[in-house]
Amino acid sequence: MANQEPTDPSHALFDLFVTAESCRDVQQHFSALCEQLQVDPKDYRVFYSKLKERLNYWKAKDLWKEIDKRASHKDYQQRKACAENKCLVLGAGPCGLRAAVELALLGAQVLVVEKRASFSRNNVLHLWPYTIYDLRGLGAKKLYGRLCTGTLDHISIRQLQLILLKVALVLGVEVLTAVEFQGLEEPSGDKGWTAKLHPNPHPTLAFEFDVFISAGGGSFLPDGFKQKELRATLAIGITANFTNRHTAAEAQVAEISGVARIYNQKFFHDLLTQTGIDLENIVYYKDDTHYFVMTAKKESLLKKGVIKQDYSDAEQLLARENVDHDALWRYAYEAANFSTNRQLPELEFATNPAGRPDVAMFDFTCMHRAEHASLVRERRGKKLLMGLVGDSLVEPFWPLGTGIARGFFAAFDTAWMVRSWGLGIPCLQVLAERESIYQLLSQTDPGNTKNNYTSYSIRPSTRYRHVNLSAIQVHQLRLYFWGGSPI
Ligand code: FAD
Repeated sequence: MANQEPTDPSHALFDLFVTAESCRDVQQHFSALCEQLQVDPKDYRVFYSKLKERLNYWKAKDLWKEIDKRASHKDYQQRKACAENKCLVLGAGPCGLRAAVELALLGAQVLVVEKRASFSRNNVLHLWPYTIYDLRGLGAKKLYGRLCTGTLDHISIRQLQLILLKVALVLGVEVLTAVEFQGLEEPSGDKGWTAKLHPNPHPTLAFEFDVFISAGGGSFLPDGFKQKELRATLAIGITANFTNRHTAAEAQVAEISGVARIYNQKFFHDLLTQTGIDLENIVYYKDDTHYFVMTAKKESLLKKGVIKQDYSDAEQLLARENVDHDALWRYAYEAANFSTNRQLPELEFATNPAGRPDVAMFDFTCMHRAEHASLVRERRGKKLLMGLVGDSLVEPFWPLGTGIARGFFAAFDTAWMVRSWGLGIPCLQVLAERESIYQLLSQTDPGNTKNNYTSYSIRPSTRYRHVNLSAIQVHQLRLYFWGGSPI
């Protein structure tokens, strides 16, 4: 039965939706499926239940089973906790989409805007054990069978986006791609808070919202938020992706979960003497691509001609014009080849969207962290709750693989904040609680969070071991209430 071609057109469309490998295909097959079943995703309150009712297909039922289990959690109050809220989410990166899914489970109307037209990042994210439970609980295994089938736990950024996009669409989230958020429009007349979008997809029907979640990644911070700079010693990260042909020979090569210099001095010494490459650490994941991330020492990059001229300022040092890209490719190639004992046959770079070898160099010397995670703005009596999630809240140091784990925690904490907002809890109390929880985020690791992953929910006490929801008091919050009279 499992291998039979479906004869019902809606079943075939569901299969195409589930197996779609690009953002555009996911959206197209989803629209076709909705049309075929005559269900309107804009009817977000009843969309999921109608979809379930009309798509009587065993494969779909497997997915509904997982999603229903999740949606029945008492924290969502039968998808009524935020039934009156309208949320704009900026960014369809993993954290924006993960937050959007939670907001939809709370019953809110959710619109995601994403400036890119495609999901193209090959780079691979490390998954902490709880994130695997979390994704399985959303039916990810039904949407991407290869999830965590290797020896290490990881997923490419684009696959994670595809899974979350599919879940979000099924739950009635509207996702607009190739649409850039260009700022907030203040309320005027009867109109509430809206966004300046380019190109404007709804010239006449502007989406009004009372919640704005900013998940625009490390380089985007909306007005009203400030960042702290965390300066460390110079740290230069290199990522490289090679084509994975999924051959038996490739399957034999062991992944590297992370070799740090202090734990394996011989490896780094041999690497230096045999190739001239000097690294602090290296990680290798076998995923859609063979993915390597390493932290390289400046002197070896200078000696190997990757960096042309030495500067003390990291920005100048790694400026585009100061990097020899051919030399960088050779450096990454040699490091990858050496660290896998030259066992990966026909090592060939995967390409980036520009058609060039997918190798990049990043500066981790100066990391950013938002000073606060939430804000309320008020104009003409209309309040807007704002929250940051993902890299725009706390930038991760990729070789440590903290991005998604902390990013999803922030998405849950933000959903919890929106839940309180939807339930009518006074806004200063909502903000005080959010900021109290935010204090814990940067220290979060698998060792100090609860290990009963099955009971994780958006409720902070299910995840954090020691959480004091009143660590920040309402009277400390004047800064977080902008344009109104909070007290
Ligand atoms: P992102 O994944 O950065 O998503 C933000 C989204 O917002 C993007 O899709 C962006 O197009 C969109 N956006 C931004 N501004 C606007 C706007 N004005 N309007 C509409 N949309 C907007 N982590 C690792 O652990 N290992 C890696 O190798 C690695 N490589 C990376 C490579 C790149 C180029 C980038 C940008 C990030 C990388 N990361 C890596 C970080 C990792 O992708 C993030 O930690 C993770 O994806 C969670 O991030 P996020 O959802 O908060 O933000």
